[in-house]
Amino acid sequence: MRSYSHSDADVVGVCKSGGNGVCNACIASTEYGVSCSESCTRCLKEERALHESFTKRLSGVWRGMKAVVFIAFGAIAFRL
Ligand SMILES: [Zn+2]
Ligand SMILES: [Zn+2]
Repeated sequence: MRSYSHSDADVVGVCKSGGNGVCNACIASTEYGVSCSESCTRCLKEERALHESFTKRLSGVWRGMKAVVFIAFGAIAFRL
C-alpha cells in the first residue's frame, strides 16, 4: 500500500478519520489517533468531544437507573 499523498512512499499508518494510508512524511500522530491532515485531526477532535459528551450523558442515565432500582428494591423489601 502506498501513501495517499505520496505515491512513491510506503504506508506506515492509516488515517483514523478518512481511512487514507499515510507515510512517514505525512503521518500526523495526534492524541486522537493517526491523522493525514489538519482537517482530519479536527474531525477526530470533534468525534472525541462528541463521544465524551455522550459517555457523560450515558453515565448520568445509568446513575439515575440505579437510583430507581434501589428505590424499587427498597419498596419491595419494605412490603415484605
Ligand atoms: Zn485523513
Ligand atoms: Zn505520504
